[in-house]
Amino acid sequence: MKPAVLSWANGWLKDRKGLYISGEWRPGSGKVVESVNPANGETSATFTGASEQDIDLAVKAARDAFSKGPWSKRSFIKERGAAMREIARLIRDHQDELSTLETLDNGKLYSESWGDVGDVADLFDYYSGWVDKLYGDVNPVVGDFLSYTCLEPVGVVGQIVPWNFPIDMAGYKITPALAMGNSVIIKPSSTTSLSMIRLMELIDTARVLPAGVLNLILGPGASASHLTRHPDVDKIAFTGSTAVGRRLVHDSADSNLKTVSLELGGKSPNIIFADAIDLQAAIDRSWTLTMSGKGEKCSEPTRLLVERPVYDAVLKGLAEKYTHWRVGDPFSDWSNQGPQVSKEHFESILGYIQVGRGEGAHLLCGGDQNTDGDNALGYYINPTVFVDCNNKMRIAQEEIFGAVLTVIPFDGEAEAIEIANDSPYGLAAGLWTSDIGKSQRVANALQAGQIFINRYGCYDHASPFGGWKESGWGQDLAKASLSLYTKPKAIWYAY
Ligand code: NAD
Repeated sequence: MKPAVLSWANGWLKDRKGLYISGEWRPGSGKVVESVNPANGETSATFTGASEQDIDLAVKAARDAFSKGPWSKRSFIKERGAAMREIARLIRDHQDELSTLETLDNGKLYSESWGDVGDVADLFDYYSGWVDKLYGDVNPVVGDFLSYTCLEPVGVVGQIVPWNFPIDMAGYKITPALAMGNSVIIKPSSTTSLSMIRLMELIDTARVLPAGVLNLILGPGASASHLTRHPDVDKIAFTGSTAVGRRLVHDSADSNLKTVSLELGGKSPNIIFADAIDLQAAIDRSWTLTMSGKGEKCSEPTRLLVERPVYDAVLKGLAEKYTHWRVGDPFSDWSNQGPQVSKEHFESILGYIQVGRGEGAHLLCGGDQNTDGDNALGYYINPTVFVDCNNKMRIAQEEIFGAVLTVIPFDGEAEAIEIANDSPYGLAAGLWTSDIGKSQRVANALQAGQIFINRYGCYDHASPFGGWKESGWGQDLAKASLSLYTKPKAIWYAY
């Protein structure tokens, strides 16, 4: 069913959107960007990107707000917490609008957008609780001294997020940064900026933050280089591809050595051992997690490693899942999978499917565009499973970021670990077994930031999330992410 708020969205989308700097909306003097609805390929909105001058203004606004306070000052922490809780309330009051814009822009199922927006409200509540709960240390030094370490906000933080969870990834970054007293400049992906624009409108209308504390810049990635190289930015927090993350490290080195935290790509293994407690649950979860978000999830289990005794049963189960899967309108309750986010990304996934065929992987299902009815207008792909693969194939090594599963058979624990770790990435990994000892041995041996035993894909604000190897540096969520937005200062007092 289409939400009633769609007609509100059609009106809202008509006006060209701009940047939010120092508590004011500005047209922006960069490139004009079009937002395209991936369900039908039509332009839904336009906005102006930020030029270098606009970015300079945003950095100055953030610096002024940080230097003068009150947001950054300890005397304001009670008000800081209250403002964050007020933003959580605003988000919940406008959850339907924000979710509608998210689905129009990204193509993810409306139910998923609804969950993502609710998650952002929860994050504002969660981190509002941390404003007065992070303690420093008294250091046990030798001699007649009092030595203590206190934690201060980092300062001006640039945050750059991708298109796959537009408002949710922004929420992951904004909330701990604001809770710790920093000033923020957030840049969403130019492919999916609408939900962040609407969120800033809500915050602006309610006048809930002091000017300059949270600024929004828009535009293509290359235009944000001015932010990542800016000498007056203290930190860049980034979620996106490994290739861009690498560039940002260079930008830091070439400018002021600002700190950089990175949440990057993945090619996560999911190991089904023959002694899995519930083989059907393992099959269901492997399928649903890869396909439901149309495969546009960083930590999805895209390499399915299956022990030979249950290999045929798993393939049979996956083929069965395909017959019930419905690809279509992301606003419809009928659909299980919406369109890929953009034409460019859709073509990249189809390109990888060709690569898989060329490498000799066998197609169990899918492998083509879905053109049923109105789907022909948009960027829909049938869920695709390649079987009998080996881990050297490009479809096993490279991040496809679509609903494409690569299934690899293995023999025994040692081979499973070897294949799983044979990847430049280390974001997440899963395993299914009824053997407690084996589960612990394998979990200890896997090289990844998240390990899921007997249920792939568990997420909670209280559990940190981050990658190993080329999947990133630093962890979002939980207490861990507060260390990204504070810097320690050790103070010595001689008696
Ligand atoms: P991307 O790297 O192309 O873009 C991410 C953001 O960086 C966008 O806002 C983009 O405009 C900006 N950008 C691009 N070039 C830039 C530059 N030179 N300077 C500054 N900013 C620049 O990634 P994407 O295609 O939007 O998103 C998909 C990627 O994100 C996948 O690799 C996925 O795995 C990753 N991701 C990781 C996590 C995680 O938590 N590890 C979560 C979500 C997505």
